[in-house]
Amino acid sequence: MRTLLLSVAVLALGVLACQPQSSTKSTSKSITPVTAAKIIEAPTSSWLSHGGDYNEQRHSKLKTLNANNVAELGLEWSYDLGTSRGIEATPIVHDGLMFVTSTWNIVHALDARTGKKLWSFDPEVDKKQAAYACCDVVNRGVAIWGDKIFTATIDGRLIALDAKTGKVIWDVLTVDKSKPYTITGAPRVVKGKVIIGNGGAELGVRGYVGAFDAETGKQIWRFYTVPGNPAEGFENDTMKMAAETWNGEWWAAGGGGTAWDSMAYDAELDLLYVGVGNGSPWNQSIRSPGGGDNLFLSSIVAVKPDTGEYVWHYQTTPGETWDYTATQHMILADMEIKGAMRKVIMQAPKNGFFYVIDRETGEFISANNFVPVNWATHIDQETGRPVEVADARYSGKAPYLQLPGPLGAHNWHPMSYSQDSGLVYIPAQEAPWVYGDIPTGYEYTEGLWNTGTEFSYGMLPTDKATFRALKSMLKGRLLAWDPIAQKEAWSFEHNGPWNGGILSTAGNLVFQGTSDAHFAAYDAKTGDQKWKYFTQTGIGAAPITFELDGEQYVSVASGWGGAYVLGFGGVLPSGSAANVGRVLTFKLGADGQLPALEKAAEIEYELPTLEASMTEALIKKGNLGYAKMCGACHGDQAYSSGLIPQLRFSAVTKDAETWNEVVMQGLLAENGMPNFAGKMDNETAEAIRAYVISEANSDRGKAFYDEVSLPKE
Ligand code: CA
Repeated sequence: MRTLLLSVAVLALGVLACQPQSSTKSTSKSITPVTAAKIIEAPTSSWLSHGGDYNEQRHSKLKTLNANNVAELGLEWSYDLGTSRGIEATPIVHDGLMFVTSTWNIVHALDARTGKKLWSFDPEVDKKQAAYACCDVVNRGVAIWGDKIFTATIDGRLIALDAKTGKVIWDVLTVDKSKPYTITGAPRVVKGKVIIGNGGAELGVRGYVGAFDAETGKQIWRFYTVPGNPAEGFENDTMKMAAETWNGEWWAAGGGGTAWDSMAYDAELDLLYVGVGNGSPWNQSIRSPGGGDNLFLSSIVAVKPDTGEYVWHYQTTPGETWDYTATQHMILADMEIKGAMRKVIMQAPKNGFFYVIDRETGEFISANNFVPVNWATHIDQETGRPVEVADARYSGKAPYLQLPGPLGAHNWHPMSYSQDSGLVYIPAQEAPWVYGDIPTGYEYTEGLWNTGTEFSYGMLPTDKATFRALKSMLKGRLLAWDPIAQKEAWSFEHNGPWNGGILSTAGNLVFQGTSDAHFAAYDAKTGDQKWKYFTQTGIGAAPITFELDGEQYVSVASGWGGAYVLGFGGVLPSGSAANVGRVLTFKLGADGQLPALEKAAEIEYELPTLEASMTEALIKKGNLGYAKMCGACHGDQAYSSGLIPQLRFSAVTKDAETWNEVVMQGLLAENGMPNFAGKMDNETAEAIRAYVISEANSDRGKAFYDEVSLPKE
């Protein structure tokens, strides 16, 4: 299949085609075992766990680099990850070594001082699994414990590697392969147990987290986040309690509630907090007719790390019906609130409210919206529950234009909390969506997106004026939030949504990369931008920092991708000038240069011709089918970001027979293109082809999308 390299100017194909080499070159020094005490201590020479330490504050005590000298920051080294899709990993640094993951779960071990590769490991994941990855074949990083590295894969495995050599120690399957599970999250290691959840709620799974023995890979416990079929018996009393908050036959579509990203371990209280995702399907009137809170969807749940036993929960969005996950980053801290020291957990989930919760009991302390929201007026102080706007619960009503949409007011991109400034730094965004019932009715199809909502409502309008108007509603900013006063301290506006995770430091600095391919440092107290670097490729991942030989390094991985880029990166390009997965490492006084940005040759593609059979009615049918089946990956308006094939100009689109082979006979299943046999009929598949050809012949193309979206500089 030919790919049009139009929406993104990429580096030369030779670079993209370069695959990481598997190698097991031994490092000269031995690994100092990583312990709980070390993770809690968070030595400044290291970055030992996903969130920096168990509290997940992503704030460094280092101040060698500070707001006064950050202007001298320069590129020390860069390492090419050999991929051109989304990179979301937080690197782990220990003993002068850096461990980072790239697309398709390839693990790279580098010399943290030089970026020189020590070893890499390719778990050779089942690429068919890409069909189940809602939001790109991404991974958020490894964990380290003892002398082992732990990585979880898109095809549901958890793997232990020898940190020194990259050799596999054990490799276990954590999911039921007959179901559309995926893993994108980073494991956490608590008391010798490796903890990992999974994703796939939209496609029809039941969420859980599992704990595995770090030495052997043996499963120690599993905690389900939603109840199963009562007829099969509940696993425990907690599931029985949760089932009382559901109606109908919720288990048929799995129920959802996947824990695909956030976790935090409280070493003081010996509790593990798990962030739980949305329901399956989204539309609650289908999932649980008659309502109910539907525990533990959209909740923070505290469990005992030794047994997985339930302790408490707080539900951010009872009866969730908008894909409002509570899987977003959770930060643990102690702070004085109304004269009393409180042990709190903080979260800014998709629903747009910033929550401060007592982490001993789960008691609600406070919440306020950190972006404009129109689904709830506020969170009731007595009950801790949202006071909903009636029209927002869309089922049986008119479609509703809502803020936030399913991309969230804040997605997976990590926040940080500075005890020095007392502020939480949030990669916040405004991305609306229109929610509504499916006029033609809903049918569950395992392995496809099952939202129970009409997806075409959420797609951008095709008339240029409305498109422009809606585009102006899309925003992204670095937001500094006072968690005690529950109000904004300052914010810095970016060119659009879907920007990178955050690092803050005792040097009065906040670091963040952006979707438009820059990495910048801000004054933590005022938000003044103090330094900015052009990274060529957009950034989603969070930076880290560490000090070796008295020099402070800052590292971040570039790689443009994820849900927003797949769905809207073509029609709303951010300005990512290339898409080269890299680790970039900076230090004071360095003056390294990235390889020159080479623009791909612009290839003139022949427009497909609208065929006589492609009537307006057929195109309309194809539009609806495309919105449900194709748009999340191939892009709104059949215009792809370039991450995966551009259907508008593909040779496959031009030929009805080949199209049918690809779409309905699984010709490209090994490349991650789902086989839609049994999921739609041939007539619908052909209607989608007509729609794609119609879009290709529309007056909206690269020039229009660039003109509307790209920053003017
Ligand atoms: Ca979701």
